[in-house]
Parts: sequence; structure tokens; C-alpha cells
Amino acid sequence: MTQQECIPLPKPLDQLTAQEIERKAAIGKIMTYTLQSLTNTYVNKGFEWLLPVALSQSTDPLWPDPGASIEKRIEVDIYGKPVRTTASMIVHKLVGCSTVYEKLFIVSPNIRIEKSERAKTGKHIYEFTQLDFEIQHATSKDVFALVEEAICTLIKGLKADRKAELAILGRSDLKVPKAPFKILDRADLEAKYGADWEAAMIKEITEPVWITNIPREFYDFEDFATGRWDNYDLFMPQYGEVLSGARREYEYSKIYEKMEREQVRKENYSIILKMAKDGRLKPTAGAGIGMERIVGYITGVSHIGECQPFPRVPGNVQEL
Ligand code: AMP
Ligand code: MG
Repeated sequence: MTQQECIPLPKPLDQLTAQEIERKAAIGKIMTYTLQSLTNTYVNKGFEWLLPVALSQSTDPLWPDPGASIEKRIEVDIYGKPVRTTASMIVHKLVGCSTVYEKLFIVSPNIRIEKSERAKTGKHIYEFTQLDFEIQHATSKDVFALVEEAICTLIKGLKADRKAELAILGRSDLKVPKAPFKILDRADLEAKYGADWEAAMIKEITEPVWITNIPREFYDFEDFATGRWDNYDLFMPQYGEVLSGARREYEYSKIYEKMEREQVRKENYSIILKMAKDGRLKPTAGAGIGMERIVGYITGVSHIGECQPFPRVPGNVQEL
């Protein structure tokens, strides 16, 4: 059996044994602490906390991100118009951050019907929550510094205030990372490790690392002269990706060209296109932290569905 096949799937609440209830409760306390610590960091720095939306005409195309693989997109008609369930609030962030909210974040439920074969990666669920943020006139470096502070504050706090829960989960050895985190280029990693660079790199690192220059969706900034992408993922050691983000495109001609190139349905992004054309789309940078992924890393669970009260395992539909 491969390592993936051995992963036990998270159980529904009503099927947990007494010992499993103790673990689940410890994970719940760590999730609560994590939500409080991360949102405190953002609120204390003057970010506006926006409420999420679930249904919109426009959502994240998730294309051509090499990490995305979804089985179906959910579209329903309401009031005679088609809407989609939120895959991410990237479009809302770009519009919100260019107009009213110069620094914003959202605790945002995302629905992505991941392929059933992702059930046992331990890293994919079909409904998850991002702490999704965006900052006007920010650079990648600004985002790195902010996230490093947020994560180091969180882990330091957990080690002081949630000792008992970390002990129950066998995670007393959790390390407070050393900031600033190293920055590596995806192209160099590909040259060194080949196409499966992610898995190889995760095993080698002992501190979190930023990976930059990843070709993906139209809204991430691409330097047409050099072909370099000003975007990033954060990888935790022995674990993997917990965050993706970028400096964003804001120029009409580039956005239009990239939408054509990627055959993105322009009619779903008419506000972005119109604002860019009118010079009203601002340069921004931001990212989304997967809440179940970061808590999965902290708690050391084998499947991130364990970090959800009601696990959303790909291919597994439960009553709750
Ligand atoms: P993305 O921009 O698509 O990489 O999503 C942002 C973050 O959300 C990722 O870095 C992950 O932490 C998290 N994420 C994305 N897809 C999933 C998934 N299927 N299950 C759990 N977390 C996810
Ligand atoms: Mg990603």
C-alpha cells in the first residue's frame, strides 16, 4: 500500500470514539485559537473584515493553475440568472480593494468539487475556508513580511497558550519558524528536481519557504518582458502548500491578452475589464491562507478533513 492509501478518512462526529473525541476537541481549540490570532493580526494592522458571499456571476476561474483539478463547477439559476458558488473571492477582492477597502480580508468559504481521487491526498477537501486578504499598492515583499509575522505570532502563541492540546496531538515539538523565510524560484526547483519538485522540496526543507514565479491565473502579475511571474506560494516543511498569492495585474491590455490566451470567459469578468479600462483597477497584492491546511500543519493530522467539524472529503458525501 502506498502512503496515501493508508490514510484513514476523517469520521463524522457521531461515529467518534471517546479517544477520538478528545483529539477532535483539541483540534477544535487550536482552530479557534488560530482564527483568533490570525484575524487579530489583520484587524490590528487596520484591515477591514469583509463578510463573504456564496453565489456570484463571477468567481475564480482556477485556470490554468497546475494545482487545481476540479470535477465540476456548480452553476444554478436564481432570479432567471446563472450564478456560481464561490471558488475564491479573488474577483471581489480586486474590486473591493480598488474602491472602498484599501486593506481587506475575508474568512471565505470556498467550494471546489475536487476529483474523488484526491480523497486520500490528505490535503484536499471540497469545501474549505480561506483567510483571503488584499492590500492596495503593496509588493510581494510587503505580503511576505505580513504573513511571516502572522504565522510566527500564531505559533508562538499556541506554544504558550495551547500546550495541553498540542501534547494531546503529539505536537509539543512544533517549532516557531525563523523569519524572514527563504525565497526560492519555481524554475530553479524544476531544474533541480524535475516536474515533481513540490514533493521533493517539502521533504528537504526544515523551515517554511516562499516559492515564486509560478505560471497560473490571469490576475497574477506576469512580466511580459522576462516571462517571470510575481506570485508566490508558502510551503511548510514536511507538509506542503498552505498559501497562494500574488501581486496582481491591473492594466487593461495585459488582462485582456491573458484572458484571450487562457480562453477565460470574458463576460464573467466584465467589471474587472471595465475598471481596468477606465484606470480604476488599482495595483494590489494579496494571498489566501487555507485555514484547514494551516491547522492541519499545526496539529499534524493525516487528513485536513479532521480539522473540519463536518469533513468534506472528495467523493464522500455525508448526511452532515
Ligand atoms: P489557491 O489560490 O487555489 O492555491 O487556494 C488558496 C489556498 O487555499 C491554498 O494555498 C490552500 O491552502 C487552500 N486550498 C486550496 N484548495 C484547497 C482544497 N481543495 N482543500 C483545502 N484547502 C485548499
Ligand atoms: Mg495554490
